Amino acid sequence: MSIMVTKSSMPPLEEYVEEIKPIFESCWLTNMGPVYKKFQHQLKEYLEVPEMSLFVNGHMALEMAIHALGLRREGGEVITTPFTFVSTTHAIVRNDLVPVFCDIKPDDYTMDPEKIEALITDKTVAIIPVHVYGNVCDVEAIETIAKKHDLKVIYDAAHAFGVKYKGTGVGNFGDAAMFSFHATKVFNSVEGGGIVYHDRQYRNRLHDLKNFGIHGKEDAIGVGGNAKLDDFRAAMGICNLRHVDSYIEARRRVFDRYNERLGDEPGIRFGKRQENVTANYAYYPVYIDEELFGKNRDLVYDELADRGIFARKYFYPAVNELSCYKGVYPQKTPVAHDVSAHILTLPIYEKLALEDVDRICDIILG
Ligand SMILES: *Cc1c(COP(=O)(O)O)cnc(C)c1O
Repeated sequence: MSIMVTKSSMPPLEEYVEEIKPIFESCWLTNMGPVYKKFQHQLKEYLEVPEMSLFVNGHMALEMAIHALGLRREGGEVITTPFTFVSTTHAIVRNDLVPVFCDIKPDDYTMDPEKIEALITDKTVAIIPVHVYGNVCDVEAIETIAKKHDLKVIYDAAHAFGVKYKGTGVGNFGDAAMFSFHATKVFNSVEGGGIVYHDRQYRNRLHDLKNFGIHGKEDAIGVGGNAKLDDFRAAMGICNLRHVDSYIEARRRVFDRYNERLGDEPGIRFGKRQENVTANYAYYPVYIDEELFGKNRDLVYDELADRGIFARKYFYPAVNELSCYKGVYPQKTPVAHDVSAHILTLPIYEKLALEDVDRICDIILG
């Protein structure tokens, strides 16, 4: 049987059936019904965040957060990272803003704060960094820079569900943070996403944007779209949330086994554990240095694939190398390009057996 890079977490079927019973009784399927509200409440408690608005997916949550924070302006620039899923950049561009790519740090692959200030111009409106692989950005340095230049910060925390920094839920940093509950993430509601924010003024704006601008019973006060999370997905989220700590614990065992087997191998660099961070073990990225290891990333990928094991070259190419963005933006990001050429994310999910981890390591080291 083949092994994919991830496998969706599923709650027991009976729990899901139980959770959707009230929906069948009330016939309230969507439009922020009781199950949505229950999910929203539980998420805020779990993530230890003050305010949260739920969306049909993480991408629309980010796109609408950029809009709701009032960042859209002619020629406005947003400093972001090229080492991410393409959604981050699309959300900026679809708001008619210009992405300005800042390079990343070679150790944890998050935005390098030392390279931000050189990119700030009088058109800069915001910084959108990514807690990539669940690694926490240098939130303190980024906050200092943002304050100094009066910029908004929105974190793409799609990879960072449940992660804490110095004991604080990672959603609390920045003006807003986006979580994704996509099927492939550590925590899922099938599809789904949320925006955490602090300033209550954003509550109505986010609500209006995801619900056609409709306010009250008889008026639309703005131009909105439709990006509401429905109550069935909320029910799935409630069930998975009940088990997410055990999902993370099971991932930790896989993560530790990889570290044991690959940790001392010259030529293989895995993301070092960050200090002061409670991790979620969302991904297991390895950086493969051909000169020291003797095989390059693509060969390792192929050797695994030949045996039905599908790792991912995640993120390759970097976003500013994709056809839709290549050559359009002038910033050079050599570290991101180097990492994207050498990185491979290995299978990790809670049901992955440690024997399979050993088999994967045997192939890599063989
Ligand atoms: C998954 C992901 C998104 C988009 O989230 P969806 O819920 O799939 O729309 C955005 N950014 C990053 C870094 C992601 O991994």
